[in-house]
Amino acid sequence: MINFNNTYSKLPERFFKCNKPANFPEPKLLAFNSELAAELEIAAPVPGMENRAEESGYTDDDLAQIFSGQKILPGSEPLSQAYAGYQFGQPVAQLGDGRAHYLGETNGFELQLKGSGRTAFSRGGDGRSSLGPVIREYLVSEAMAVLGVPTTRALAAVRTGEEVVRQFGPEPGGVFTRVAPTHVRGGTFQYFAFQNDLEAIEVLLKYVIERFYPELQNVPVADQCIGLLQSLTCRQAELIAHWKSLGFIHGVMNTDNFSVIGITIDYGPCAFMDQFSFNKVFSSIDHGGRYSYANQTAIAKWNLFRLADCFVPLVHDDEAQSVQLLSAALEEKLEMFEKAENETMTAKLGLPPGSEQTEVVHLFLAYCEKEQLDFTLAFRKLPELYSGQTDFFPQTTKLSAFIEQWKAHEPDVEQLNTVNPLIIPRNHQIERIIQSCYQGNDEPFFQMLEAGKKPFEKNEAFAEFAMPPQENEVVRHTYCGT
Ligand code: AMP
Ligand code: MG
Repeated sequence: MINFNNTYSKLPERFFKCNKPANFPEPKLLAFNSELAAELEIAAPVPGMENRAEESGYTDDDLAQIFSGQKILPGSEPLSQAYAGYQFGQPVAQLGDGRAHYLGETNGFELQLKGSGRTAFSRGGDGRSSLGPVIREYLVSEAMAVLGVPTTRALAAVRTGEEVVRQFGPEPGGVFTRVAPTHVRGGTFQYFAFQNDLEAIEVLLKYVIERFYPELQNVPVADQCIGLLQSLTCRQAELIAHWKSLGFIHGVMNTDNFSVIGITIDYGPCAFMDQFSFNKVFSSIDHGGRYSYANQTAIAKWNLFRLADCFVPLVHDDEAQSVQLLSAALEEKLEMFEKAENETMTAKLGLPPGSEQTEVVHLFLAYCEKEQLDFTLAFRKLPELYSGQTDFFPQTTKLSAFIEQWKAHEPDVEQLNTVNPLIIPRNHQIERIIQSCYQGNDEPFFQMLEAGKKPFEKNEAFAEFAMPPQENEVVRHTYCGT
């Protein structure tokens, strides 16, 4: 049924541990992304019925069995990947997939179950996930994909039939299937670097380069390290700029959640901001604001330096020279972050990139922050502001100053609604949907998925998804999915 063509499982044994998913006697399918399945050549979709199992060519039961890890298909090689990481700045020598099972690869994508039981890397954890984070990751990662943000994708969501005990008591359990070209992260390199396992670093480097940076295949190893860092810097710069342009806060940019191919990975305490604030934090454990909205740029840069550390032994025999070469290579590209952010943010005002235009962006954001405006709606209502027909924006001297400067740059107002979405997966909606699924009503979940497919269009049927939260609906904290 799935044509597996696995590469990760062929890596040396110390890259992973073979583990079988846990036993769940009565798994039930919640959702299956048949459109994505078709891309993976797993099944053909029926237009309009994507995400609903009955039209995918499999029975619900087959899919529930496969995507909760009960039925292991021929060619699948369940394993958990080893990695380390810096968590909130502190090195942790061993993390690894503590609740995830790679099933194998098909059509160039890894299929991975999350919440599928204890593994050799579970440490004190139960290896499970509650259904809430499964629903959240499904909705948010699919919305990100539609919005054009590089991301892992959602293939399936299954109810395990078990309860798991979390912070607020027992909750229904779930297994999520995510799909990505690779789940290798900065932390995978760090796992071997922390053990001084140079040979493994070289094997991993070769693996990543052959698949994702083939233009570097035939250059010396030192240049591969530098080339990879520089290309990844560009990819990460684009990624973070994209996040920030949507008001997205990842929430836990530890190096173990830092993809080496520059995709969004690990939707834990993430959130799209409602009221704009530069220092906005949602994650309940991010007390210092390390992973706040604005700080995401600085953290991505820091993470790149921590990846560069792993390459020190490969670049030059002399350590000091090696550090110097790697730092210089990275620093040369760091301005890509500001460049990419300048491009995405100026486009949100209908302006071409440029430093003068960046000042206009700052004027607008400072005004939005002061007036506590909704980030998404403030940009979405710019065409109305331009033509002077709105009461959304409080009239202040800051607003007048912005309008004057903005108009002086002659914005292309026509294209604004193709850049600034109306619908993003808002936290209060996600929370409402999770509660509804907990009560057994999945319909709102499918509605939100549907609404998220056309984020730039105004559609009365989906009006509720464009609404910011009422005061009593505001979600102030998000939690790691564990
Ligand atoms: P995360 O915050 O989801 O990126 O996870 C950080 C680390 O904790 C990873 O090594 C996870 O595999 C591990 N982890 C998270 N939740 C659990 C759990 N319920 N059981 C075992 N390990 C977990
Ligand atoms: Mg993680």
